[in-house]
Amino acid sequence: MSELQEQLHKRRTFAIISHPDAGKTTLTEKLLLFGGAIQLAGTVKGRKAARHATSDWMELEKERGISVTSSVMQFPYGEAIVNLLDTPGHEDFSEDTYRTLTAVDSALMVIDVAKGVEERTIKLMDVCRLRDTPILTFVNKLDREGRDAIEILDEIEAVLKIQCTPLTWPIGMGKRFKGVYDLRSGKTHLFSAQHGGKIAEGEIIDGIDNPRMDEVLGDQAQELRDEMELVQGASHALDMDAYLAGKQTPVFFGSAINNFGVRELLDAFVQYAPPPRPRSTQQRAVSPSEEAFTGFVFKIQANMDPAHRDRVAFMRVCSGRYKKGMKMRHVRTGKAIQVANAITFQADERRHVEEAWPGDIIGLHNHGTIQIGDTFSEGEALKYEGIPYFAPELFRRVVLKDPLRMKALQKGVLQLSEEGATQSFRPLKNNELILGAVGVLQFDVAAYRLKDEYGVDAIVEAVSVKTARWIECDDSKMLERFREKNYEHLALDGDDQLVYLAPTMVNLNLAQERWPDVRFLATREL
Ligand code: GDP
Repeated sequence: MSELQEQLHKRRTFAIISHPDAGKTTLTEKLLLFGGAIQLAGTVKGRKAARHATSDWMELEKERGISVTSSVMQFPYGEAIVNLLDTPGHEDFSEDTYRTLTAVDSALMVIDVAKGVEERTIKLMDVCRLRDTPILTFVNKLDREGRDAIEILDEIEAVLKIQCTPLTWPIGMGKRFKGVYDLRSGKTHLFSAQHGGKIAEGEIIDGIDNPRMDEVLGDQAQELRDEMELVQGASHALDMDAYLAGKQTPVFFGSAINNFGVRELLDAFVQYAPPPRPRSTQQRAVSPSEEAFTGFVFKIQANMDPAHRDRVAFMRVCSGRYKKGMKMRHVRTGKAIQVANAITFQADERRHVEEAWPGDIIGLHNHGTIQIGDTFSEGEALKYEGIPYFAPELFRRVVLKDPLRMKALQKGVLQLSEEGATQSFRPLKNNELILGAVGVLQFDVAAYRLKDEYGVDAIVEAVSVKTARWIECDDSKMLERFREKNYEHLALDGDDQLVYLAPTMVNLNLAQERWPDVRFLATREL
């Protein structure tokens, strides 16, 4: 095997999808703990705050006690090199969250056992489905009273339209939570509540009929046996092809805060989750084992390094090897650039990388020339597909305090939308400028950056737009008629694409009914 093949087969690049408070941060900490990056466990949140303490526009982040930035964590686990891409969650939920999912090879879904499938998870699953991303599931907080395991699985199947195959099974829950049974090995892993930074190694009992089970579990041993008979009869066998196609999800149960069930999850993750696979470009499919380097940018982050007022472009390596100092072709501009100081995200620090392999993420310093979706290669004119724009769900009108600053505002907004920080729309009917986002913090960041970087004092205010759809129609005459009739609801986005801005969902539905041959698209590929 070549070094390239060896390195790429070790890579597991993934993100966690969940609704806020399901336990993503806690699980991330435990994964780092099990991955040997022990000094980090328990400090994921604090670390972020500390790292950006001196950054000025990150003041915003500090004020709110949340993280605008989302980082990349690389750590070894056994033979594997794991790249965990953080997905901004709470108020910092943004289009970055969605776009990050286009850069991973698989995802881990965390479900709160008491709450089941929640709204944010449904949205993130929709994004995963665009690329048939394989998904492992962790049902968390079994140390608390929650819903019945079978009920949770049914809900995942019904709501998320993905087949569940439990690989572990909880023994009781809440006060009666005794451990998890591993359906593959037949071993029972007993629970012992463990807080703090230690890895809990409770007793392991081999075999479901082992008398030791009855000794320690009492009545719950027989309950488990009965339940297992039922579950094994009713559930689907693990089917790797179905998992890799995003049609089936292996399910694990546990308690992240107690480090419980996490090792089973991580072991299964490195065993089952795919290494980098071929990715399609507009020209052809590119295999990760191709010697020539390729990668694409999925996120641009402003002023990460307070010492430099630059931006960092996050690039996913798709094929070949990145070597420090190498020349790359920035395909969209056609320019060759020499990259001497890409950054990597090993464990806790950003440091300069010597090399990176398919599946890895590197950060390129960028003074505004790089855009989201840009492809880099060693010469070939390739364009990676699959960085979509998502229909915003939140809209604000930008109002200038000083009307003479209009030019600067337009320039700033254009730059922010090229970076993907926010989307912008210009209604056909007037000279307003409307910003669109999926997370509310995107507006604050936009206003802050307009002032800080472009010297534009603007406020954002409510506007009566509920949702947006990109408009496509094969019949140009019909499109013209559509344009005339719906003039007051139409706008152009940052790329001059026609967009329907609906004041209400009812209005949107009516428009769709009236114009069956016009396509109203909720996502648009870059
Ligand atoms: P995130 O918003 O998804 O990142 O969730 P966090 O990891 O911040 O967790 C949300 C809350 O749930 C915190 O108070 C955690 O301490 C708590 N939590 C996380 N995992 C568990 C668990 O296994 N059991 C219990 N009882 N609480 C948990």
